[in-house]
Amino acid sequence: MRKFVIGGNWKMQIVKVDEAVSVAKEIATALEEIDMNGVDVFVAPSYHALFAVGQAIKGTKLKLAGQNMYFRDQGAFTGEISADSLLDCGCEYVLLGHSERRRIFGEDNAYINQKVKKALEKGLKPVLCIGETAKEKADGQTEAVNQKQLEESLADVSPEQMKNIVIAYEPVWAINNKFLNPDTEIKTATPDEADSIHKFIRKWLIDTFGNEIGNTIPIQYGGSMKDSNCEGLLSINDIDGGLIGGASLSAAKFKPIIEAATKLYQ
Ligand code: PEP
Repeated sequence: MRKFVIGGNWKMQIVKVDEAVSVAKEIATALEEIDMNGVDVFVAPSYHALFAVGQAIKGTKLKLAGQNMYFRDQGAFTGEISADSLLDCGCEYVLLGHSERRRIFGEDNAYINQKVKKALEKGLKPVLCIGETAKEKADGQTEAVNQKQLEESLADVSPEQMKNIVIAYEPVWAINNKFLNPDTEIKTATPDEADSIHKFIRKWLIDTFGNEIGNTIPIQYGGSMKDSNCEGLLSINDIDGGLIGGASLSAAKFKPIIEAATKLYQ
């Protein structure tokens, strides 16, 4: 059976440590009332708050993730953070290749691949984000773009290592971000659209890593997931959780999504 993973990507939205700690504590408290049923839930605060949030949620059901990571162990790399620093803060997961990193900060597949391999070597679970833009979708390139991102970002990763990876399919056109989508209306993928691309990703994982491993890798959906649309998306067979931006910034918005996931994951 596949694991379900629900992640909250806080991006650069919560800028004060106290606020990050207080939201994390509220979410951890909300989780106490939920039978998690094997569902993993993490939040990814920005770096300045990682340590404090890690301390605040120690011993709770809530897990911690980094939003990014550099692939070298240590050294003169201004503005970067290492896998060991994320582990030191208490992280279990790390987001890699998020579309904001790819499209705003110019990260490419080869660079992301180095991070994926370093995270695995260090014992962090990469959440590898992939997804096509509105233009790529309009040009009929959805499958080709996602396949290339998978192939190149996961180059030289073994089937055994894939047991520790989560894939997050996040169509760029569905991410609630006006920098990424200045001219297009932001829409959530319909359940049919999501079903079709998740099936394609599952097939690629099975073809590449074998039936057993390919079938156990969680594939999250991300892109404007919220209370009102999460059930339709999470009940799709090849959607094994969600990566959530805006709706993870408060316990009130995040809890219904987690509850839906834990009910659907039986
Ligand atoms: C994200 O960027 O990972 C994301 C899914 O954001 P939102 O839920 O705000 O669209």
